[in-house]
Amino acid sequence: MRASNYYAHPGFERAGLRRREPEWIRARVFDRDSLFIPVWRTQNLVIEREGDSRAAILAVEAVAPLLGGLSEGDFEERLGRGEFVFLGVIDERAHFALDVSGIEAPLDMLRSPTLAAAGIEGAAIAQEAVRFADLRQLGGRLERHESALLALARAMMFWHSRHRFCGLCGAPTRSEEAGHMRRCTDAACNTMHFPRTDPAVIMLVTDGDRVLLGRNKNFIPGMYSTLAGFVEPGESLEDAVAREVREETAIEVGAVHYHSSQPWPFPANIMLGFYAEAVSSEITVDYGELADARWFERDWLMSHVDDDSFRLPRLDSIARRLIADWLAERT
Ligand SMILES: [Zn+2]
Repeated sequence: MRASNYYAHPGFERAGLRRREPEWIRARVFDRDSLFIPVWRTQNLVIEREGDSRAAILAVEAVAPLLGGLSEGDFEERLGRGEFVFLGVIDERAHFALDVSGIEAPLDMLRSPTLAAAGIEGAAIAQEAVRFADLRQLGGRLERHESALLALARAMMFWHSRHRFCGLCGAPTRSEEAGHMRRCTDAACNTMHFPRTDPAVIMLVTDGDRVLLGRNKNFIPGMYSTLAGFVEPGESLEDAVAREVREETAIEVGAVHYHSSQPWPFPANIMLGFYAEAVSSEITVDYGELADARWFERDWLMSHVDDDSFRLPRLDSIARRLIADWLAERT
């Protein structure tokens, strides 16, 4: 069995049935064993120490300043706004995503002693070591399990922030099922809205001992990667693979094989990874989409060291995984 991709498998039980037990959820929010993952305007809380990045996963007492004196009375109201999302259970400890976007400067409310009480080993953490960061910018420096937890928390809070009103009637929505559904507050409408994740295909096109890689205009200098694109309504994944490759490079593909998938919460995607066998070889680059696309020989890729003329995609991406697994196949 293949190892999971980065951002997948937070290593916990989602405990979906618990979402419909409001009393259990309420008790867990006030439980000293529960843990909270703060999300501030799509950024995650991390601790940087000695070149190492860790997720800041906080116990109730550590997160108390951010909760702002949460009382049982206003708990229901805040739960309904989607401030809390029950993510799941690890070692019998409930984990919640906590939206702190309403606070202008949440870092000012966190002090070293409270963070030290959060169960993070080692000496007290310096205030400046704690920051809110874009998970994507961390570039895979977090441990896998932590990265998957932060990705899930970020994805859920992004969805809440974009679905505060009903898409059918425009009335406000309220969070239900511990943050996993929003329902329209207009009684006649009553529509339920569920978290979204939009499918995108990403494929390594192979032709014997060479592969097709492209450069997006926005990539860092020298970076080439696999082709990718969104699945359109009414389209199979295989058709989406063939269409995207044809549109971007005019290469026709035959057999398409599934490899693995990766949650990609930037902002709300699931990347579905494939190998696609080319049945043509003449590249015509769509310069509206790409800056370049070329065939790369296996031996050349194996011997090249990343520099500004050519570099492989980032280590936490499924694109890198598709390329690395292909390179490893026949060595
Ligand atoms: Zn509605």
